[in-house]
Amino acid sequence: MKNIYDLDLCDFEKYFESINEKKYRAKQLFEWIYQKRINDFSKISNMSKSLIDKVSSDFIFDVISLKEKQESADGTIKYLFELNDGNLVETVQMKYDYGNSVCVSSQVGCNMSCRFCASGQLTKKRDLTSGEMVAQIVYIQQELDLLEDRVSHIVVMGIGEPFDNYDNVMQFVRIVNNPHSLAIGARHITISTCGLIEGIKKYQEENLQTNLAISLHSAIDSTRSSLMPVNKSNDLKNLKQAIKNYIKKTNRRVTFEYIVLKGVNDSKKDAKALADYLKGLNAYINLIPYNDVANTGYKSISRDECYKFYSYLKEHNVNVTIRKEFGSDIDAACGQLRSKREGCD
Ligand code: SAH
Repeated sequence: MKNIYDLDLCDFEKYFESINEKKYRAKQLFEWIYQKRINDFSKISNMSKSLIDKVSSDFIFDVISLKEKQESADGTIKYLFELNDGNLVETVQMKYDYGNSVCVSSQVGCNMSCRFCASGQLTKKRDLTSGEMVAQIVYIQQELDLLEDRVSHIVVMGIGEPFDNYDNVMQFVRIVNNPHSLAIGARHITISTCGLIEGIKKYQEENLQTNLAISLHSAIDSTRSSLMPVNKSNDLKNLKQAIKNYIKKTNRRVTFEYIVLKGVNDSKKDAKALADYLKGLNAYINLIPYNDVANTGYKSISRDECYKFYSYLKEHNVNVTIRKEFGSDIDAACGQLRSKREGCD
């Protein structure tokens, strides 16, 4: 039995053809799943009983189940989901004035080992399937249905490195973006990478209007390598070239993320290196206040210190913002997600 959320429209067309049914059935089924949001095949009213029996013997809906839900004072909601093999993932829903954004996990654990990140303290157990990512969105959309609201934005910034699970992440994007499905606009979907050059090269060929974010955190190789081991094989020079090529090919603006860490990447020298690095990229940069993670040794800087760093960049014509923080009181903020609660602190 397959996870029903793993298939995109094209896969369903092939499926229906393989059982001697017309292709248009795919669209019908997609609409039942994603627009009427059924969890039970018996609700389907425009297929014969025998066809419904066939579909329900081939697919399952139950791919994640809720273990825990926590709500922050600022309205951010963190969901802990259990997968069918017992692994756990976290998903975060944030309320902005422009809509509801969901931060999706793409792997169980992560192999990138960024030194400051809680998720990176666990090695990767496995990739999520596309359907396990889709199910995170569908679950939250069903909760929002009760409030007559919708998921309007998606950021693939939860646990995991999306470009280390490239094909499943792209399949996920195709499914949630499809107009017969949840129809979440491509321009409202952002994939964040720690800078895997091979992934960026593939992504630019997708012909999608989705966004790319790069977790930079330093524009000095030695500092970046000490924070992010991935920099040793994807260094700043090659990364910049890949980003330039991406922009040339897609004409899309790239966002950079930069966690300002006390005494590590917060000096004037760091700010200058960053301003120089961003020259010619017409990029946005988001400064992220560091959310403390036990046992990393890293510390966040004060708002005032962050503002100094920000002002230096502004003076050098960098498009910079300080990211609003969400859900830090429930460990739902960037980098605080982990796939298992026990044994990490
Ligand atoms: N692997 C992807 C997506 C997951 S991390 C990536 O690296 O982009 C999502 C973002 O949170 C990244 O920018 C990451 O560097 C940042 N992050 C990780 N730990 C953090 C922490 N403790 N405080 C603030 N941001 C953190």
